[in-house]
Amino acid sequence: RGNGAPRGPYGPIRPTHTIRVRPLTCSETRRGDQRVVHSLGDGTVHVSAARQDATFGFSAVFDAGDSQEAVFEGSGMRQLVELATDGFSCTVFAFGQTGSGKTYTLMGPLGQVQHCPPNPTGSWWCPMQAVALTWLSIRDLLSPGPPCTLPLRWSKTRGFYVENQLSVDFESLEAIASLLLQGSQRRRTSAHALNRHSSRSHALLTIHIRSRNQASARPSRQGTLCFVDLAGSERVKETGSSGELSIEANNINRSLLALGHCISMLAKPRGKRTHVPYRDSKLTRLLARSLGGSGVTLMVACISPSSRCLSETLSTLHYASRAR
Ligand code: ADP
Ligand code: MG
Repeated sequence: RGNGAPRGPYGPIRPTHTIRVRPLTCSETRRGDQRVVHSLGDGTVHVSAARQDATFGFSAVFDAGDSQEAVFEGSGMRQLVELATDGFSCTVFAFGQTGSGKTYTLMGPLGQVQHCPPNPTGSWWCPMQAVALTWLSIRDLLSPGPPCTLPLRWSKTRGFYVENQLSVDFESLEAIASLLLQGSQRRRTSAHALNRHSSRSHALLTIHIRSRNQASARPSRQGTLCFVDLAGSERVKETGSSGELSIEANNINRSLLALGHCISMLAKPRGKRTHVPYRDSKLTRLLARSLGGSGVTLMVACISPSSRCLSETLSTLHYASRAR
């Protein structure tokens, strides 16, 4: 990192934190769940239930009525995409309990990919990679064969990287949408094969943006855009969970904690920053390059408005407030 915070075209780059409250689902409404989370405008979330009354402040808050477009524009995601095309490494995290809207926020309604600049002269190209991380292994989400475990390696030039990861070139929006859909199915089945009690894994989609200088064939700018659909953050109750599940849940919580520690350390002014604990989990090792250096991160914490999710919602809001 150079002196001070890295500068993008919009001034100093800082991690930003956004909250998205999804609508109550039909089944939640049918069983009579109460809406206990409200956005009060100007970045404030208010949680009010029988014995709870708390207010949290963030960079931006999106409520049940806000569209994907509103989130894309208002959370800074559009700026992030633009920074990535300018050569920065940009990462969007979706955090929250299972069912809170993480995948929906990153992917939109099933398979609907929405934004793509025209590329008539082939002046840019985008190799993409996608992996799922569980507590034991890293699996390729783009490779069509049976799921196999890929090793995490380190080299001086590349830092941590996944060996033998399949890279697929961008061809069309439709092709990407269908690849992503297959990838998310593979994420479910491979997690299932690994541990039949759980589908908890982190999914990382990395898009490398290469633009060709018209005068030469060599790539002139190399930005990356990484979308991280984090494993559900819910705590697993001790009773009734098998040993296998507790170990996995524990490891997921550990990797989420490690991520929170890295992000909050990186958010500090340079003089106050001490050791960034990248090595504490596979997830943070893999993301070290994107988080550090001239990386730009955006964390979207997803929450359910339902009274039944109250304690997980509060823990998500606390996590998102701490990781700033
Ligand atoms: P997660 O990935 O956090 O487990 P999902 O993204 O799968 O959660 O969302 C759970 C359910 O809620 C899905 O059926 C999804 O379509 C729906 N959902 C989530 N967020 C929204 C939203 N903002 N608007 C409408 N439906 C949503
Ligand atoms: Mg999901």
